[in-house]
Amino acid sequence: MPELPEVETVRKGLLPAMESALISNAAVNRPDLRWPFPERMAERLTGKRINALRRRSKYILADLDSGETLLIHLGMSGRMTVSGHTIGEFHHPHPTPAKHDHVVFDMDNGARVTFNDARRFGAMDLMATEGQADHWLLKGIGPEPFGNDFNESYLVERLAGRKSPIKTALLDQKIVAGLGNIYVCEVLYRAGIAPARLAGSLTQREVAGLVPLIREVLADAIEAGGSSLRDYRQADGELGYFQHTFKVYDREGESCLTDGCQSKIERFAQSGRSTFHCPQCQR
Ligand SMILES: [Zn+2]
Repeated sequence: MPELPEVETVRKGLLPAMESALISNAAVNRPDLRWPFPERMAERLTGKRINALRRRSKYILADLDSGETLLIHLGMSGRMTVSGHTIGEFHHPHPTPAKHDHVVFDMDNGARVTFNDARRFGAMDLMATEGQADHWLLKGIGPEPFGNDFNESYLVERLAGRKSPIKTALLDQKIVAGLGNIYVCEVLYRAGIAPARLAGSLTQREVAGLVPLIREVLADAIEAGGSSLRDYRQADGELGYFQHTFKVYDREGESCLTDGCQSKIERFAQSGRSTFHCPQCQR
């Protein structure tokens, strides 16, 4: 499942192909992905210019000059591919249309953007740009981790008295947007906080320390994604999946990377997901 840094990497890869460009032709090859596409989707996209390509949580939002915004969600298996346009130093020719190429945008700058989704857990929708905050997928999502509304006093207030584990609380999209399992494990490791501790038991100082760590962990991953775009060798122009090493995630049984710690990383299930932690460093 792509998390915020992967979605941000896809957005950055799409920017030169899509932002300020006009959609010469939108081909919509089936009626739905996870949910039905909006009515007359191809018609509402063709001939429209993309004024801005933004991200909100794990959604990519394209503001069109028609007053509508296109929402793109990669889901679990959605892939965005750019061809006919340069990504970093690499230019990818248009590939032969493939099975599961469900939506194809031909841009007036020569770029082709293909959305391929074999399992169809992805989604696209159109909404009025003005009312976008009320869209059912966006409504109620908490502040962006890099935004001013996400700060120490906000998080202290939101976590106060909470009886759920801190890991579960940080995964709650109503508290902070876009954090997923991988990066929450990394944040709690860097913070030295045990994932099973109740959110309400954290001291004000511990909570305050989480805010810059959340930004640091996400920024590091976005930077790794950015490097992958600059050094873009994948033959097919597919965006968003990059090599990134984690300090604790997916390292069960391996040595803790903290200087002087002799412990091994452990894994346990929390709300049906794998939590990775160092029992020595995280208290
Ligand atoms: Zn350790």
